[in-house]
Amino acid sequence: GATIRLEGLTKRYPGSALPAVDNVTMEIGAGELVVFVGPSGCGKSTTLKMINRLIEPTSGRIKIGDEDVTDMDAVKLRRKIGYAIQSSGLFPHMTVAQNIAQVPKMTGWSRSKVTARVEEMLDLVGLDPGEFRNRYPRQLSGGQQQRVGVARALAADPPVLLMDEPFGAVDPITRDHLQDELIRLQHELRKTIVFVTHDFDEAIKLGDRIAVLREQSHIAQFDAPEAILTN
Ligand code: ADP
Ligand code: ADP
Repeated sequence: GATIRLEGLTKRYPGSALPAVDNVTMEIGAGELVVFVGPSGCGKSTTLKMINRLIEPTSGRIKIGDEDVTDMDAVKLRRKIGYAIQSSGLFPHMTVAQNIAQVPKMTGWSRSKVTARVEEMLDLVGLDPGEFRNRYPRQLSGGQQQRVGVARALAADPPVLLMDEPFGAVDPITRDHLQDELIRLQHELRKTIVFVTHDFDEAIKLGDRIAVLREQSHIAQFDAPEAILTN
């Protein structure tokens, strides 16, 4: 993992009276799993999208390690940051293998390395490569799609993983499994993870630290789960 530093991060959408994200400053440690929890509309997705450079900040800086995200080209960014979203974000016209292979391919991995990596990633998320490699997303259950979404996000071995309500669209039992899997995976991989949810129980279960956000992503608390629960 790598450290993520947000410095005075602000996003004002055109035509909005108030910023969606207002002057957020925080540091996330290398290998730490930080959960952003807060009500719908408080700016969680906007913050993740700025880290991922899917949207431009109005002001402020984002650093990964000692590098400014704004200085990275698209390919380098993809190598640094994996992104997993609700309803998996998979391309429907691509097979499971093609979806997982996309970012490694884009970053110039050899064909044989990519093929081996696809197998490894499917194993990692508990899907049998022989059975799932050639399926299309619509031929998978919701939980299986989310697993592939996580495999895809991790395929190029990025130090940073951003997860935007990745388990929001699956049933409670599957969600519980996927959460356990993420905890196990994180013990093994030690990525720097920012995980967004509006579910407080999920935040408490997963977070090394939890940022409790109010409107405009104002940080109400930023602490370990035990400390959050006793306050
Ligand atoms: P969350 O992820 O916490 O639900 P968002 O980051 O999606 O919150 O949204 C934060 C605020 O920004 C909300 O008020 C939302 O309506 C607004 N917003 C989000 N995307 C846009 C956009 N593309 N244009 C204008 N306003 C937006
Ligand atoms: P393009 O414009 O090159 O097609 P998009 O921004 O539309 O790229 O993203 C294409 C896919 O890549 C989407 O599924 C998105 O979720 C995923 N994606 C975006 N940013 C990243 C990232 N940093 N790492 C991995 N996948 C990403």
